[in-house]
Amino acid sequence: MQKYNILQVVKYLETLVKIPSPTGFTQKVQNFLCQNAESKKISYKETRKGSILYEFSGSKHNKKNIMIASHVDTLGAVVCQVEKDLLRLSSIGGYPLIYVIGDYCIVHTLEGKEYTGTILPDNPAAHVNKDLKNNTTLSFENIHLRMDLPLQKKQTLKDHVQNGSFVSFDPHFHHTNGFIKSRHLDDKASAATMLYIADLLKDDPALLDSLKANVYLYFNVTEETSQGVAGFPEIDELLVMDMGCVGKNLEGNEYSVSICMKDSHGPYHYGMTKKLIDLAKKNKIPHVVDIFPFYGSDGSMALQSGKDIQVALIGPGVSASHGYERTHEKGLLATLQLTLAYLI
Ligand SMILES: [Zn+2]
Repeated sequence: MQKYNILQVVKYLETLVKIPSPTGFTQKVQNFLCQNAESKKISYKETRKGSILYEFSGSKHNKKNIMIASHVDTLGAVVCQVEKDLLRLSSIGGYPLIYVIGDYCIVHTLEGKEYTGTILPDNPAAHVNKDLKNNTTLSFENIHLRMDLPLQKKQTLKDHVQNGSFVSFDPHFHHTNGFIKSRHLDDKASAATMLYIADLLKDDPALLDSLKANVYLYFNVTEETSQGVAGFPEIDELLVMDMGCVGKNLEGNEYSVSICMKDSHGPYHYGMTKKLIDLAKKNKIPHVVDIFPFYGSDGSMALQSGKDIQVALIGPGVSASHGYERTHEKGLLATLQLTLAYLI
């Protein structure tokens, strides 16, 4: 099988996770995707809601249209109450609070300023609060954001921050021993793979020529709030690339591509999924087939909206999802290989 430069995928991944993009506040990542397309002369469009669609027409005047979708929006928070010297938060997307306590973050004010901060439990000093070590009932009512802004006398945070300011979490990106540790691998690992696929299609006319269909690459900005994909042309098949689950009773792992037969919303298209399994076997691509227990995707949302399209879901195995995530170069490579095998 052809050699791919997986380090380029990792480079895209690092770039993407370092662009703050909690759902609802994704303009910066949209700009990046548009500029990337413009600089490489890739035909693209931006939907009304802000998702970006790259378009590749195979030269054989294909009758069929396939869309591959990933998402570049992430978990995050929004300021819902400004107290004298701390901020209260409302969550964007679903995550266990143990995974944000102690984390560094950025507050993006409505005036366009950025302030760093830390998410902490109330009364957070262990030398002051003897009950802290027993505190197992974290909720948005008893955690806060400590913003790194020195206040003058008589000033309060209200002079600087308003409700509705978005908060993005520090990704903590590390690339070590082939592992990529970072927040937001869900789903920027897939989006980075899609950017690499766009480069391949742009730079290799033979590959473009061998496509079995016209291909659209859809970068969604509203997945974490379950809004699904919209504003795309008529398609026959939707291949969703989103993180593969890794955990108890699952076969998924960081070195393989997960092929999801069913998630908590129901099964994906059997024929399309079976074809992906067969392709993975035939091309000796490390893969697993799993049922994702607590999971929805842009694919399940497309099906629930009643669209008459075939939908399947694949993605690199991601450990500790919606927390301190990790995957491996091998998982990215397997996902890339399977996606390309499907397209040609
Ligand atoms: Zn996701």
